[in-house]
Amino acid sequence: MADEPIEMERLPDPHGHPPADDTSPPSHYELMALAMKELLTEQGTLTNDEIRAQLEKIDSWKPAKGAAMVARAWTDPKFRARLLDDAGEAVKEFGIDPGEVKLVCVENTDEVQNVIVCTLCSCYPRAVLGLPPDWYKSKAYRSRVVIEPREVLAEFGTEIPEDMTLRVHDSLATLRYLVLPRRPAGTEGWSEEQLAEIVTRDTMVGVANPKVPGDG
Ligand code: FE
Repeated sequence: MADEPIEMERLPDPHGHPPADDTSPPSHYELMALAMKELLTEQGTLTNDEIRAQLEKIDSWKPAKGAAMVARAWTDPKFRARLLDDAGEAVKEFGIDPGEVKLVCVENTDEVQNVIVCTLCSCYPRAVLGLPPDWYKSKAYRSRVVIEPREVLAEFGTEIPEDMTLRVHDSLATLRYLVLPRRPAGTEGWSEEQLAEIVTRDTMVGVANPKVPGDG
């Protein structure tokens, strides 16, 4: 008996948005990555499944671990000191493996707001925060935040007073930054879990600051 033919229903506009643009030619780095992958699998160093599994693992990384770490730093001065002294070592206490990358944690204070960027591409503390948001990779952010950081932060809704120092940190493939935000007033006596909830991805990039809900 012949197999039943598979019928696919085609609706006139099933998606309601323009098609994804994956038709542009691969970039230099995409070609390099593909060539590297072919070489490694051909010589038996890695299997396609191992590469896929590692990509799946990276995709699963979320900013939640970073938030838990910030909450710990806010409540445990010794951990805060370890984080600022050697972030790469301190994150291991949260089961994060920073790999070969040097991780530096910069602290926001009453006088200094730190913000991170990769002017060249999209270097980002992925082990701690997961994959970078699209705006972090955009040319507009990468080029403008180093020239007019106050304006860029204002566009994120973050007003930095003129008398406050705004420090922009340019990441590298081998050096990634993480911002330790300032603990907001009104959080005295909060548990680490409560504190972690107000520490978002953007506050650890430095384009926003943690807020107490209902505090505007
Ligand atoms: Fe980069």
